[in-house]
Amino acid sequence: MKLDQKDSLKHVREEFYVSDERIYLDGNSLGLLSKRAEQAVLSLLDSWKNYAIDGWTEGKHPWFYLSEELGKQFSPLVGASPEELIATGSTTINLHQLLASFYKPDGKKTKILADELNFPSDIYAMKSQLQLHGYSPEDHLVKVKSKDGHTLRTEDIIKAMTNDIALIVLPGVLYRSGQILDIKTLTEAAHERGIPIGFDLCHSIGSIPHHLSEWNVDFAFWCTYKHLNGGPGSVAGIYVNEKHLGKEPGLSGWFSSAKDKQFDMEHDLTPAPNAGAYQIGTPHVLSLAPLIGSLEIFQEVGIEAIRNKSLALTDYLLELIQVELKEFRFTIASPLERTSRGGHVYLTHPNAASICKALKAAGIIPDFRSPNGIRLAPVGLYNTFEEVWKTVQVLKQIMLEEQYKKYENTRGVIA
Ligand SMILES: *Cc1c(COP(=O)(O)O)cnc(C)c1O
Repeated sequence: MKLDQKDSLKHVREEFYVSDERIYLDGNSLGLLSKRAEQAVLSLLDSWKNYAIDGWTEGKHPWFYLSEELGKQFSPLVGASPEELIATGSTTINLHQLLASFYKPDGKKTKILADELNFPSDIYAMKSQLQLHGYSPEDHLVKVKSKDGHTLRTEDIIKAMTNDIALIVLPGVLYRSGQILDIKTLTEAAHERGIPIGFDLCHSIGSIPHHLSEWNVDFAFWCTYKHLNGGPGSVAGIYVNEKHLGKEPGLSGWFSSAKDKQFDMEHDLTPAPNAGAYQIGTPHVLSLAPLIGSLEIFQEVGIEAIRNKSLALTDYLLELIQVELKEFRFTIASPLERTSRGGHVYLTHPNAASICKALKAAGIIPDFRSPNGIRLAPVGLYNTFEEVWKTVQVLKQIMLEEQYKKYENTRGVIA
């Protein structure tokens, strides 16, 4: 296919374990394994084998400094300086840490502002932090409403930034519709009202560029197993704006310590001067390992090139859907305009669950989101235009022949 021949990233596909038997469009849920990530895991197993306890300070990737080293690698992906970044924890744990650090109810300012389309884990974390402070989530978690059930309007979010809001937490890209929120404008509006603001970048990191420092965002957090291809349960990330550094975090542990002080074993913490302070305990070294290889690929390819390819792929996918599938009652629920479209396309259909099962049986891996959503993520690093074309052809066949009727319209345990 001509589009693939012209693709300047086509060689990158060979870095990954892609199967010719299937078309993988679920890289926004769990990215594929790269050969470099695999090598990195083997290399860290080797350092355990060869160095034992000395692996903390010896070998190619001394474990004691690995979280900071990988934090640096996030820098071009989120647009922040190395000291503002750390690889640590998991998304939900990191959100708890950041809420414990940045949610400081004071006088009339006691509420947290989120949105009604947010991912459940983030909502649960915010509710439990409110409860820990003795507030009822019913009246203290304010959720911005969506007009169309899929997207949020900047003006609606800004209108909700009232003088009783103590903290704002929003996604960078919405996990269903893939809408990109205007982080820059929202941050400015929040700061004009004296409210700190943070973003969940799970669906945007590795897919679109960010400029967190320039936008003056207070904090951000993300997982690394979606677009960053770190593997199941890989260690997540935190960004804290430099103006907030040098303090004790809300949840401290000995890894929050300045590195040179940690083994003094004192009972008074000297927090790390950088975002390393937001670590709690011993890093999950074997779950950091794949990121050594995987983030190297991002450094070489560059996020701008990945974004350009991703837009070309979703442009092509949207065009094909509009032409080939128009008679089959699909609704495109992701934004069509490029500036607010993230790395995946979101379709809704009353038979979405059974359609996803039929796609899977035909070797195409989509992502079903209850109750009626289909996410399709052609990933810039490893998907091809031909795969996008084939997907729509297979989907058309499934609809024409009503193959989906062979499957129950219900979700599996993992959907
Ligand atoms: C994937 C995702 C999570 C997952 O959180 P974990 O702690 O890694 O399980 C949380 N929030 C959002 C928005 C996500 O997309």
